[in-house]
Amino acid sequence: MSGDQNILDEKREFEDVIGAWDDSVPCLWRLANGRNCGRPARWMLNYHGCVRGTVCTQHLNRWVKRCEEFAAGRSSVRCSKCKRRFLSVAAVYSAVRI
Ligand SMILES: [Zn+2]
Ligand SMILES: [Zn+2]
Repeated sequence: MSGDQNILDEKREFEDVIGAWDDSVPCLWRLANGRNCGRPARWMLNYHGCVRGTVCTQHLNRWVKRCEEFAAGRSSVRCSKCKRRFLSVAAVYSAVRI
């Protein structure tokens, strides 16, 4: 655990992962100290249209890994915005190189 952010732990819901970033550039990954990452964004992360945000490669990889870890013990994950259920993390998002 790097400790530079804490967006996902067993007490949190899946939507908190999504809430960890919002819409602007560059990398919007919010660190535990309340600041954004600020490195140049390399990816546009699209959370099935509900949320979009730009992230650097490191934070994209971390986000995906954490989502997958979160989803691993669950049969599905639910989006708090549109209430859709998804059977896998891969179905939830797309990431496009920018
Ligand atoms: Zn970043
Ligand atoms: Zn949604």
